Amino acid sequence: MNRESILIVEDEEDIAGLIAHHMEAAGFNVIVAYDGATAFKEMEKQLPDLILLDLMLPDTDGIEICKMLKQKELTRNIPVIMVTAKGEEVDRIVGLQLGADDYVVKPFSPRELTLRVKGVLKRLSALREGQKVLKLGKLALDLDAHTVAIGGKRIDLTLTEFNLLRELLLSKGRVKSRETLLNNVWGYTFEGYNRTVDTHIQRLRHKLGDHGKIIVTVRGIGYMIREEEQL
Ligand code: CA
Repeated sequence: MNRESILIVEDEEDIAGLIAHHMEAAGFNVIVAYDGATAFKEMEKQLPDLILLDLMLPDTDGIEICKMLKQKELTRNIPVIMVTAKGEEVDRIVGLQLGADDYVVKPFSPRELTLRVKGVLKRLSALREGQKVLKLGKLALDLDAHTVAIGGKRIDLTLTEFNLLRELLLSKGRVKSRETLLNNVWGYTFEGYNRTVDTHIQRLRHKLGDHGKIIVTVRGIGYMIREEEQL
C-alpha cells in the first residue's frame, strides 16, 4: 500500500523534527524542507499529498508560499494546513482566504495535529475515491449526474450554482473565502469580483428554499456550510 506523503515546511529544526516524528508514527511518508525554496525543489521531485506549512519562514513566508501553490495548476489541489504561532489571529484569517484547508496554532499536541491531517486527507479521499453523492440531511448533490435534490425533489440549478454548492459541501465545516470560491468555481481571482460570489450565493439560497439557510455568511471572509447543520 502506498503511504501518503506529507511535506513539512518549517524552519525550526526541533519543531520540524518533532512533527516529522509524529507524522511517521501515524504512518505517513515525510519530507522536510526548512525554507520555501527547498519546499518547491522537493515538490519538483515528488508532489506530496498534504503540506504542513509554517507561517514564519526565513525566505518566502508561508502566506506567499500558499499563494504560489494555489496559483499553479499542478499544486493547486494539494491540501495545505497552516501552522501558526499563538496570537497570529490576522494571519490565520489570511491563511484561510488564501485557500489553506485548515490551520493549527503552536503549541499544538501531536494528537491534535495528527487528527487535523487525517481529517483533511479523509475529506479529499472521499472525493477522489469517487464519492458520488454529497448529502446533508434531505439535500443530496450528485457529483456525476450534476443534479441536486431535496427530499427527492429535483432543484434546478445553473452550473455555477451547482459548483458553488459542491464547493461548500465538500468543505463542510470550514469557511470558504470569496477569493477561494472565485478561484475554484469560476477559475479566476480578479479583485473586485467578490460581489459576483455574493450574487450567486443569494440566488442559490433562494432556489434551495428553506434549505438556503444552510449556507452561512461569515462576515468579512466568505461562506460556509456548518458541519452540524440539522435539516
Ligand atoms: Ca518558523
